[in-house]
Amino acid sequence: MRRKLAAGNWKMNGTKESLGEIETLMAEHASPSVDVLICPPATLVATLADKAEGHALAVGAQDCHTNERGAHTGDLSAPMLVDAGASYIITGHSERRADHGESDADVCAKSEAAIAAGAVAVICIGETLEERESGSTLDVIGGQLDGSVPDNATGANAVIAYEPVWAIGTGKVPTTAQIAEVHAFVRSRLAERFGDEGSAFRILYGGSVKASNADEIFAVADVDGALVGGASLKAADFGPIITAL
Ligand code: 13P
Repeated sequence: MRRKLAAGNWKMNGTKESLGEIETLMAEHASPSVDVLICPPATLVATLADKAEGHALAVGAQDCHTNERGAHTGDLSAPMLVDAGASYIITGHSERRADHGESDADVCAKSEAAIAAGAVAVICIGETLEERESGSTLDVIGGQLDGSVPDNATGANAVIAYEPVWAIGTGKVPTTAQIAEVHAFVRSRLAERFGDEGSAFRILYGGSVKASNADEIFAVADVDGALVGGASLKAADFGPIITAL
C-alpha cells in the first residue's frame, strides 16, 4: 500500500519569517494521515529541519549537485543537504531543466546522488504545451522516465512527480482523463522496467493544485499525492490540500 504524499515546493520564495506558516501548519496538522513534505529554499533547510524535529513533517531540498564535494562554487551536494536535515531532494524540476539546461542524464545523476546520500529523490517529468498539442506527450514522458530514473531506484528511495510544464503556475489544470492517462502510463512503464517494484513508486501530480481542485485530482487512479508550488506557501492554502489527500 503506497502512503500518500503532500509535498510543497517553495521554489525561490521564503525567508526565515515565512517559517511561521510551517509552525501554523504543524500545529493544525499535528498527526496527518499522509506524509507531508516541505522543500524550502536551501537557505532554510537546516532551520526548518530543526523546527520540524519531533513533528510529522519532512524537509526536502529542491536540487543537488551530482558530486559529493569539490570545486563547484555555489553548488550544494546531496550529502550536505542531508546533513542539513533534508530527507527528500527534488530532481529534474522543469524550471531547472529550462533555466539550467538539465538533461535527463543530469537528472539521473542527481537522483543517484540523492539516493546515495540517503535521501528520497523526487524525480520530475512533464511535457510542454507544444509537446501536448503535437500529440507526443506519452513519448516525451516515456523518454524522460527512462532517462531520468536511475536503475537502483525503488519505491522507497524515489518518487515520480508528473508536472505538465503548461500547468505550472498558470492556473491551467489537465482534465482528470489527461492526468489518469499519464499516471497509468507512468505506472506501466515502471512495471516494465522494475517488475513488481514498479507498483511501489508513488506518482505525484503537480501543476496548479489548490484546495478547490484537490479532491478531483486525488480521486484519479494512481495519483499518490501532489507536488504543490504556490499553494504550499501559506498554511491556509496547503492545509486543506493535506486534508483532501
Ligand atoms: P504550482 O503549484 O505553483 O503550479 O507549481 C507546481 C510546481 O512546479 C511544483 O513543483
